[in-house]
Amino acid sequence: MLERDIKEVLVTAEEIKEATKRLGAQLTKDYAGKEVVVVGILRGAALFMADIIREMDVYLEIDFMDVSSYGEAIVSSGEVKILKDLDTPAEGRHFLIVEDIIDTGRTLRYIVDLLKYRKAASVKVCTLLDKPERRLVKDLIPDYVGIQVPNEFVVGYGLDYKQKYRNLPYVGVLKPEIYQETTE
Ligand code: 5GP
Ligand code: MG
Ligand code: MG
Repeated sequence: MLERDIKEVLVTAEEIKEATKRLGAQLTKDYAGKEVVVVGILRGAALFMADIIREMDVYLEIDFMDVSSYGEAIVSSGEVKILKDLDTPAEGRHFLIVEDIIDTGRTLRYIVDLLKYRKAASVKVCTLLDKPERRLVKDLIPDYVGIQVPNEFVVGYGLDYKQKYRNLPYVGVLKPEIYQETTE
C-alpha cells in the first residue's frame, strides 16, 4: 500500500542493516571501558536508535530530545526550540547523539553546543543518513555516518512526510503527485 507512493528506493533495508552493524561495531570499540548516554532526536531517529543500540556492546543509557526549528527568520541563527529536554544531567558524561539525517546541520549544532555548555565529558554525533551537499553549518562533521544520500527529500525508516511513511523499512523518495495531493 505505502509502496505505491514511492518513486525510488534510495537505501534498502539490507543496506540500513549493514550500515547499522558497521557503525555498531565501531561504536563498541570506541566506547569500550566508558559509559555512554545515547540520545535519540525525536521522532525521526526512533527506529535507527532502537537498532543501533542493539549493535553496541557497551554499558549505555538512553534518553531522548525533541526539538523544532523556529520560523525561517530566526532559523538562520541556528536557534531551535526544545520541546522535550533530556532527563539526564549532562555534566561529566559521555553523549552520543543519534539522528536520522543531517541536512543543514543547524539542529545538531544547537544540541551539541548545548551539551558542551552543560559540561558533558564528550559529545559525538551518529547519523544514519547525511546530505552533505545541503550543509550550512560547515564545521558540523558527524563522527559516525551510515550512508550519504543526494539532495532529495527522503522518507522511511523513521523519516516522515507529514508524519506518515516512518514505518517503511527502507528509505526512498515519494512520487511528486503525493506532495501535490496533500498540499491542495
Ligand atoms: P537540519 O537541522 O540538519 O537542517 O535538519 C535536520 C532535520 O530535518 C532532520 O533531523 C529531519 O528531521 C529533517 N530532515 C532533513 N532532511 C530531511 C529529508 O530528506 N526527509 C525528512 N523526512 N526529513 C528531513
Ligand atoms: Mg530528525
Ligand atoms: Mg519531520
